[in-house]
Amino acid sequence: MNALVTQFEFEPLPFAPRLYADETLWSWMTRTALYWGFSAEEFLIGLGSSSEVAASPSVTPDFDCAPSRVLTERLSYVTGVPQEVIRSHIIARHSALLWPEGRAAFCELCFDELAVNGSPYVRRAWLDAWCIQCPRHRVPLCTVQQTDPAHRPIDWNRIWTAKRAWASATLARYPDPHPAVIQHSEVQLWYPPLQCLRPDGLDRYPRNAAARPAARSPESRGRPENPFERQLVILAGQVFSDFSMARAFFSIRDRLTWRNTGRGLDPAEPLGTLALRSGAIRIGAALADVLLRRPARNAALTVAIRDLVRGLNRATQRLINAELALWPSVWCDRWVAVFGWPDRPRVIRSTPT
Ligand SMILES: [Zn+2]
Repeated sequence: MNALVTQFEFEPLPFAPRLYADETLWSWMTRTALYWGFSAEEFLIGLGSSSEVAASPSVTPDFDCAPSRVLTERLSYVTGVPQEVIRSHIIARHSALLWPEGRAAFCELCFDELAVNGSPYVRRAWLDAWCIQCPRHRVPLCTVQQTDPAHRPIDWNRIWTAKRAWASATLARYPDPHPAVIQHSEVQLWYPPLQCLRPDGLDRYPRNAAARPAARSPESRGRPENPFERQLVILAGQVFSDFSMARAFFSIRDRLTWRNTGRGLDPAEPLGTLALRSGAIRIGAALADVLLRRPARNAALTVAIRDLVRGLNRATQRLINAELALWPSVWCDRWVAVFGWPDRPRVIRSTPT
């Protein structure tokens, strides 16, 4: 066994990369590791055993939200950054925060700009499931194909090799050190297939993200204000057997995962891949425009999604009915009336005791 696994051997580093004000801790840890010639994983091993540095070693370590006390102390020791500064970057968990494996969304323009005079880093605003476009540039967030994201924090080194400028600024390591392939990365940037949902631009989705002066901070979120619309977004992303509305628009079967719990979908935490949440937020908005009889934000999508729902077969309708039955009856009534739903969802109400 590597001696570093059980020992803490690092001495204070002479220099550590600047921790940007809105940077996530895992981003900064990765950049610090690369600056000193380590991979993020090697850096972690040097900082201590997994049981010491990860609060819950049995699940994916979440260094953005839950770095252990030992890790915080040792990070402070080796980088010289005060513990209270490190702790101030811990992100409080909230219902829309993506799971660690799902935090690979980023803004290409932000990375391009930061690579000129600084270093690409991960902004905390991108960790929110409702964030599908950069609050600064108002362009869609992108991601990369991941090879094995399960139970591992995001491999930002790999992502930063997608462009030479990013790799140079972060000192990212290329996977194959052979001279013939040095500075050649197989990593491709990947944008959700938004062409399915155009011609409308992104500016009107989500409704309250960055479009209003009051919401222009980097932390602004795109969570729809209307609770019915939020519920429709969840419905649009949910998988019913082999069907989902998002899947009906995107041919992204291998990417179509939704955050599931042991009990199935957790309706309080509508999280998932970038493609899914991008699609679900737009489809949910189209459904809301139909059901609430509002002017369509995307006329073509609204017509398409209305036709899709009206054309669902009975078996799929029954699966969706089980979900609709959990809604407030006024929402159910609206759905049945607008979409001509033949079977009214059976609303199961618990008897007050
Ligand atoms: Zn940006």
